[in-house]
Amino acid sequence: MNELNRNYINGQWVSWAGDMIDIHEAGTGDVIARVPAAGADEMEQAIAAADAAFESWSESTLEERIKVLEQLHAGLKERAPEIAETVCREVGMPIKLATPIQAGMPAAVTKSYLKLLPDFEFTEQSGNSEVQYAPVGVVGCITPWNYPLHQVILKIVPAIAAGCTVVLKPSEIAPQTAFILAEILDGTDLPKGVFNMVCGYGHTVGDTLIKHPDVRMVSFTGSTRTGNLIAHAAADDFKRIALEMGGKSASVILPDADLAAAVKGTINNCLLNSGQTCTALTRMLVPADKHDEACELAAAAVAKMTPGNPLEETTRLGPLSSAQQRDKVIDYIKLGIEEGAKLVAGGPEAPEGCDKGYFVKATVFGNVKPDSRIAQEEIFGPVLCVIPYNDEAEAVKIANGTQYGLSGAVWSGDDAKAKKIAGKLRTGQVFVNGGAFNPMAPFGGFGHSGIGREFGKWGLEEFLEIRSLQL
Ligand code: NAD
Repeated sequence: MNELNRNYINGQWVSWAGDMIDIHEAGTGDVIARVPAAGADEMEQAIAAADAAFESWSESTLEERIKVLEQLHAGLKERAPEIAETVCREVGMPIKLATPIQAGMPAAVTKSYLKLLPDFEFTEQSGNSEVQYAPVGVVGCITPWNYPLHQVILKIVPAIAAGCTVVLKPSEIAPQTAFILAEILDGTDLPKGVFNMVCGYGHTVGDTLIKHPDVRMVSFTGSTRTGNLIAHAAADDFKRIALEMGGKSASVILPDADLAAAVKGTINNCLLNSGQTCTALTRMLVPADKHDEACELAAAAVAKMTPGNPLEETTRLGPLSSAQQRDKVIDYIKLGIEEGAKLVAGGPEAPEGCDKGYFVKATVFGNVKPDSRIAQEEIFGPVLCVIPYNDEAEAVKIANGTQYGLSGAVWSGDDAKAKKIAGKLRTGQVFVNGGAFNPMAPFGGFGHSGIGREFGKWGLEEFLEIRSLQL
């Protein structure tokens, strides 16, 4: 049992003797750790520490910031196996994937900022003016459980690089890697108060953080429902917000595409992290005359995805992160059947041999109506909706026909045509014929998927105010 009865405030661990939150292992349901259900007092202390540290850190040199990020990068690399195993147990992502993604991406993103920073222009000339990019101030970071360290790194690395100070409220479902991060930062030259972490529930410590007048920006990743609450709270004193929220992304397979490759690419993306991925391609749009063939290919692909113990090297599909998430996904599968979609593979019953833990069968629905709830709402589990269309215009209309706009894909035998259709999608990123994920490209959402961008220079600019000196 990992008893983490402490918060990290003003450069030191502050012990906590109050209520604790149980952390469960996704594959077994066992309690494996406990973290503080801290209160407003701890959060206020953390915000005061970040506020006190701001003036000095905002004036730190680029060399000082780079040195700390180099130390952080080395720590993330050194502790990568522990990070991968922790997320594998908490979230359920198979270890084979958790190693490069849950542990590898945080180090890669930190490295990407180390590459970018030396050339980033914090001042530029415009006519007779010097334009200065100044840190926003104290930033409140609130993060979800599905990529628990990666989401944190995407905020705190550019925030610290910009000269901001930070208070992190990690997810109460998968918080242990935030403790590893705080331990790593504690061993660097980061001055006290620049990074603080308080653990607890959203409606308690999260609420204090988003409403506090000394917090000048909230950077949030999580559900659209919580993002909406944050936007309302921030409006009261005009805090800056960066919101990374939900998705219901479409994979548009054009008539001239290699159907087998496109279905395989879509399924692999949809089932990554058991579907607990904001960018998951959960709606597969196929020409009506290829619908049945696409469903057969999808069923064959998911048949190979037997859920299993995520700690085993051979497992490709793990459990969901919590009992609540498993029950929600099963309810959606039942709803799909009620709505009249065709159950092509999977279903609401527990997978064979998985009596413990939060497992759900990989499920494919065919002939899904574009306006049905399973095609409109984020399920956040291993569920694919296959939607037939009659022509390109209808495909684009269906792809753009949800409140979300986070990701997407287009598949065609003709790259130029795929790019043309990609340009019509109202979404923050589109994978064209299986293009690779690029951590230097901007990432974020249209519509209810978000405000602002993460990764690369766009992620850094989120944490900068603009001042112009007229000379
Ligand atoms: P969630 O909104 O329930 O929780 C996210 C965080 O917000 C948690 O730390 C939680 O404690 C906090 N929170 C909850 N209520 C709050 C309140 N009233 N005030 C302040 N903070 C509060 O989301 P989740 O279930 O942890 O994560 C899943 C969601 O995250 C999905 O919708 C997914 O699409 C989204 N997500 C988006 C991205 C992206 O980059 N766009 C990435 C990962 C996950």
